[in-house]
This record gives sequence, structure tokens and C-alpha cells, in this order.
Amino acid sequence: MNYEIIKKPKCEDFPKRPNLDDYEGMRAGFRWEDIHKELDFLPGGCLNLAYEAIDRHLKTDKKDRVALIWDGRHETKERYTFSDLSRLTNQFANVIGSLGVKKGDRVFTYLDRVPELYISIIGIVKAGAVVGPLFSAFGTEAIKDRLIDSGAKVLITCPELLDNVYAVKKDLPALEHIIVVNKHNVPYTPKEGEIAYERAMAEASSEYQICQTDKEDFCIMHYTSGTTGKPKGAVHVHEAIVGHYATAKYVLDLHPDDIYWCTADPGWVTGTSYGIFGPWSNGVTQLVTEVGFTVHHWYELIARHRVTVWYTAPTAIRMLMKYGEKETKKHDLSSLRHINSVGEPLNPEAVDWSKQVFRTAFHDNWWQTETGCIQIANYPVQDIKPGSMGRPFLGVRPAIMNTDISEELSAGEEGNLCLKYPWPSMFRTYWNKKELYESRFKNGWYITGDRAWRDEEGYFVFVGRADDVINVAGHLVGPFEVESALVEHEAVAEAAVIGVPDPVRMEVVKAFVSLREGYEASQHLKLEIKQFVAKKLDANAAPKEIEILPTLPKTRSGKIMRRLLKARELGLPEGDTSTLEE
Ligand code: ATP
Ligand code: MG
Repeated sequence: MNYEIIKKPKCEDFPKRPNLDDYEGMRAGFRWEDIHKELDFLPGGCLNLAYEAIDRHLKTDKKDRVALIWDGRHETKERYTFSDLSRLTNQFANVIGSLGVKKGDRVFTYLDRVPELYISIIGIVKAGAVVGPLFSAFGTEAIKDRLIDSGAKVLITCPELLDNVYAVKKDLPALEHIIVVNKHNVPYTPKEGEIAYERAMAEASSEYQICQTDKEDFCIMHYTSGTTGKPKGAVHVHEAIVGHYATAKYVLDLHPDDIYWCTADPGWVTGTSYGIFGPWSNGVTQLVTEVGFTVHHWYELIARHRVTVWYTAPTAIRMLMKYGEKETKKHDLSSLRHINSVGEPLNPEAVDWSKQVFRTAFHDNWWQTETGCIQIANYPVQDIKPGSMGRPFLGVRPAIMNTDISEELSAGEEGNLCLKYPWPSMFRTYWNKKELYESRFKNGWYITGDRAWRDEEGYFVFVGRADDVINVAGHLVGPFEVESALVEHEAVAEAAVIGVPDPVRMEVVKAFVSLREGYEASQHLKLEIKQFVAKKLDANAAPKEIEILPTLPKTRSGKIMRRLLKARELGLPEGDTSTLEE
């Protein structure tokens, strides 16, 4: 960590006092049960995540607050208050109830980011069913795997995606109904077995008695990103809302008058924990855009909607950096108060850059589909050490453990990142993979599969996925450190490193890079990059070979797939590529 520490002002000097205003003090006295008191619960001690996100606000002055600002394609714009969403999600719960959906049934969505996606997800949770959001850019194999595995009974989709659904429908005996949302009014007539969303909603009552779910009832399942292997269906329960609410309040620092934007799609856990449940349980207005990433569009959205809190991911941030500071100058981004990143290690270079161009740095935080909510984070009040994912969230106890998870390692020692369990939002199983689930727990610890170390002050530093760590003559080399050094070179936009077998040293490091605008691949440039990083790294970690690619293979959630680069390099089978971005 060679970058200068980013110092934070005293709480009193923030334009808005951070919700978490005394990290050590609050951490010492923290109990998850105290967060329960800030939620409402249903009569009889039942807990329903959808109720906590939407309906409880109807008893307060938040009921008329805008919950969702939707910025659609074709210049369409819509706004929904918490009352609107309560009514519409009641209707949707009635629609699926009339189809015979019962508590525990799986109901999946396969839709673009239109308001009806959000209405469906909340409606399904109200009905006590288990919602499974599928990313709309998935192809046939990806949806087939997930719909077969989950045994989904109902699928909500749109005319534009129906061909994909019919291509696999014969393999889905459990799928009984298809609800079709025709947001863009394309020519469409429902076929047998299809239900037109608009018509069913028009006929449904807006009165609904929310299912009396227990906090331990299954509520949502998300397939992991598929970065290290075949995606697993991590199942979460209604109690997860306790984690969503608390972290949205204290890490994202959401305040009542914020305009919040999470760029993740609800097909990934960030897009529901922090694109639906966390912000709405805090009664905050959020922006949703139907349109995908372009640098201009993103900055334009922030400026037009006066976004105050922003949550995005390293791949997008590196793209923004690729276009440089001049692009930021074309827009008024002064509304941004607090900006956050998750999903992959955030290179120190990116933290430093954001501090310069946005006046506030990206706050990196770490968690997984399995953990359900943020576990390690940088906070508004805490100094940032660029390259570190921050310190444990209140009530979270991570540790760096030795190989057989029997001993906790000390500050400075690298090992397996583990979490003391339980915590409210942790996954309760991998769907149909009980043994794999059980294998992730040992000696009272949940084994995350990531390697990390922590410093004396309790800041955690990511090293790499356990699968991706490279063994050079007995020295373990973490990809993140090498990749961070590579992206510091002015020509390098993105980098991924892998270990390739070596007869003498076991493995050596090979780097793949893509270039920034205006740079051309050449032998000379490769040599220059190699020499540049060799000066920054020790001899084991310095790449022996550099290959320049037009782009690096990524999952659809934007994570670099090192396993694919390795399989291609070694001529091995590519494994599951259902989440590969084309
Ligand atoms: P799969 O489990 O299918 O291989 P995945 O692990 O990428 O996919 P997710 O649950 O979406 O699926 O991602 C969680 C992982 O992402 C973490 O285990 C970690 O490796 C990485 N990650 C998330 N946030 C950070 C961060 N701030 N810094 C470093 N790594 C991060
Ligand atoms: Mg994982």
C-alpha cells in the first residue's frame, strides 16, 4: 500500500453528519438485536422483507416520498412513491396467488430493469415465495441451468426474451406459468400458458394480506457470479433485511433526502441487497436506469438527477478512468456526497483518481453473494488506505486463518479470509448443494474462499481468490498486487494475472492486459510494461510474460475470469461459461 492515506475530517465537519459517527464506540456496543428495534416486524413476531422495504413506510410521512425514479429507454421516465409500490406489489402478489403460488415456491424473473421487475420481486416476497432474479442478458443455457436447478414454477419475462424461454421450455417440467410484461408495447398476443402482466394487474385487487413469514423462511435466491466455477444458488431468508438495512444506513450512509443510485442489476446480489432492499428499508429514493453503461450516459444521469450516493463496481470505474478526467468536466457532478465500490478488488490507483476527480474517493467494500450484505468496508468517517477493503462492519468478525482453519493468524500474515457465523443475512444453503454448503464451514468459521491479510489497525487487504493464488517456488503470489502494479502503467486499462506451470519454479506469473485509448500493442510496449512492474514487485511476483488482449474475459457482473484465461493458456476445458460476457 504505497498510496497516501486519505484523511477524513471530524464528524462535525461533514456537510451531513455520517450515520456511523464513532466506529470504535459503535462497534464495541453493537448487537444485531438492536437493529431489530428499527424495523417493524409483522404481528406475532413474523418478519417479511418486502413489508420492511415498502409497506411499513405507509404509516409514516415517507408514504408519499418517491421510492423509484425510473429512467427508461426511449426517453420514458416514471416515478413511484412508496404508496404506489405498496399497491402495485399487492396486486402482483394477488396475480401470482391466483396462479396457485404458495409459500416456498420458486418464482423467477427474467426482465430488463423496468419498474415491473422491481414490482414483481417485491410482490413475490410478499406472497412468501422465493424469488430468483435472472439477468436479462443471460442466454438460453444460463437460464435453463438455473430454472432446472431451482424448479421455478412461474417466470416473469417480456416479449423480447420469449424466444429464449421457448428454446428451453421443454426441459422445464416444473415451469407452469409465464407472465409477460410488455413495457415497450411491442406487437404481442399471449399464447396458451402465457399471462399478460398488464391485463392480470388490471384485474387484481390492490388489497393484500402479506404472507406471515418467519424470519428463517427462504425468501430470495441468487446464483453466484461464476467467476471461479459453476454458479451456485445461494439462498437467503427474510432476516437478511436486518443486514441490508443496517449496512445501507451505516456503510452507504443513506439519509432521508438522498438520491441514491446502485448501478448493479437485480440479477446479482448487489442489485437486490443494495438496489432494492437496503435503500428502500431506509425509506430512500433510488434511481434505476434501464439503459446499460456508457460513460456519457452515467455522468449525465448523475448530473440530471442530482445523485448524492452512488454504488458501483471496479470494472465500471476503470472504464470511467479510461475516458479520463476531461469527461467528468463536461457534467456537473457536484451533487455526489458518498461513492462506493464492490465486486472486485479496487486498485489503489482508482481510489486515488476518484478522490481527485469527484472530490470524494470511492469507498471500497467487500462481501459475497453468500454473505448477503457488506462485511468489510471503508466508512465516511474512517481514513482510507487505498488498496484496502477497509474494516469489519459492526457485528461482523472476520479473521485471517491458517490452512486448516484451526488457528487465527496475526496482523501482516496472509491466509484464508473467514467470518465468524452466524449473522442475519448469511446464506442458509446452496440450493441442491447441501454438501458444498457444509464444506464452507469449519471450526465455527465460514470459509469465504478469498485470501487476505490485515494490518495492525484492522484494515483488511485482499490478496486473491484461493483458486487464483500463484505458487512461485513456494512463495504465494496474490494476483491483486501484481494487477494493481500493472494498471499503474499509463498504457494499461485492465490486467489479469495467472500462474502457468514451470519446471523449475512450480509456477510463474503470466499477465494479460488490455490497453487504454490511444495505445497500440507492440513488442516494445510489452517490454516496457514488464520492466515497469518489475521495479515495483519482488522477483517472484514480476510477470515473466505479458500478453496484450483487446479485452479481458469477464462475467456478466463485470468480474475478470482468470480461470478462463488459464484454461485457454493451458489448453484445458473452459468449464461453465454461462455467465461469460460476450
Ligand atoms: P463464484 O462464487 O461463482 O466463483 P463470485 O465469487 O465472483 O463467483 P460473487 O458472490 O458475486 O461471486 O462475488 C464475491 C467475490 O467477489 C468475493 O468472494 C471476492 O472474491 C470478490 N470481491 C467482492 N468485493 C470485493 C472487494 N471489495 N475486493 C476484492 N474482492 C472482492
Ligand atoms: Mg464466490
